[in-house]
Amino acid sequence: MTPTTPPEPSPDAPRAAAPEASPGVTHAAASAAPLDAPPPSGDGPDLRLADWAPRRTLTVPVTHVPRAAVPAVDAHNHLGRWLTDGVWCAPDVGALLALMDDANVTTIVNLDGRWGAELEANLDRYDRAHPDRFLTFCHVDWTQLALPDGERRIHADLRASAARGARGVKVWKDLGLEVRDASGALVLPDDPRVVSTMALAGELGLPVLIHVADPKAFFAPLDRHNERVDELLAQPQWSFADARTYPTFELLMDALEALLVATPGTRYIGAHVGCVAEDLDHVEHLLRVAPNLVVDIAGRLAEIGRQPRRFRRLVLDHPDRVLFGTDAFPLAREDLEVHFRFLETADEAFDYAPGADVPPQGRWTVSGVHLPADVLASVYRDNARRVLGLDA
Ligand SMILES: [Zn+2]
Repeated sequence: MTPTTPPEPSPDAPRAAAPEASPGVTHAAASAAPLDAPPPSGDGPDLRLADWAPRRTLTVPVTHVPRAAVPAVDAHNHLGRWLTDGVWCAPDVGALLALMDDANVTTIVNLDGRWGAELEANLDRYDRAHPDRFLTFCHVDWTQLALPDGERRIHADLRASAARGARGVKVWKDLGLEVRDASGALVLPDDPRVVSTMALAGELGLPVLIHVADPKAFFAPLDRHNERVDELLAQPQWSFADARTYPTFELLMDALEALLVATPGTRYIGAHVGCVAEDLDHVEHLLRVAPNLVVDIAGRLAEIGRQPRRFRRLVLDHPDRVLFGTDAFPLAREDLEVHFRFLETADEAFDYAPGADVPPQGRWTVSGVHLPADVLASVYRDNARRVLGLDA
């Protein structure tokens, strides 16, 4: 299926219910064609999904929130150059600092430190040039697990990165999906060599921001039932639905949980609402079994904004376990404002990706969660400062 083909009639699509006539009231509709009759063929435009660009007719409040209510830490962002073909994600650091000042963002966590010379370049450009404004996390080069003494090399590299000044470790989801050891086997997040490395991070005082598996829709077949079809058709390599190649989402999430439990001395930030923003009951389960876990909201307004009451309850029940983050790069004013609007207002039915023709993570809108002032202070600032060691 592609969005350029006409939508097929779906055998399991909900059928429109006929209006119920109240006793004694005559409805004009009652005498019209039944609502569940098939549409007359050849009548109306042959609209393609790719061309569908509905304009909402809702009239609802629009609240502009240009500044965070309290000085904020963006706990999940990308300022380096390994994701962007060697070009710095933030091409003008002065302009970025001005935007941060305007928006009341004191600090950004830069997850792109890598290791060695690239870590040095990130630390020079951000942390050392602008102390307290930027905190760069390093990576672990898991490909070394294909070498006979890979685990020892990884531990040595991690110690070196900590000594250079890395402020944490970013673990990306290639762990569990791509990384293979010398035997050719996939390395899962609860592999003993990963456990020992993450335990070492804890000993070195480095928090670990970890992304495993997520999102769920990338593990579902790429067909007309996939709610992220727009995104997957644009980036088909993001599909992990082939069970001959990839573990299941559930297996990876169980491995994440086992890792968290096996390394209680390590502080973890679960990326993208604990890697399972689609299922906040599961997030609460992880928070319960792993007191060393907090979660960021980065890159998942689409998910938490379509279940705003459930997400609000999660935050109110765990006010010290949720961190503000955007995962928006290069960072733009609109990205910050939509996050502030989501956290601070009760606005309804707004775009989570302002300016996008087709919302990238699903064709729906989001609503705000209007958090109380004390909880906003925790989510924007205090939880991040505690986990990142900024208050020590
Ligand atoms: Zn990210």
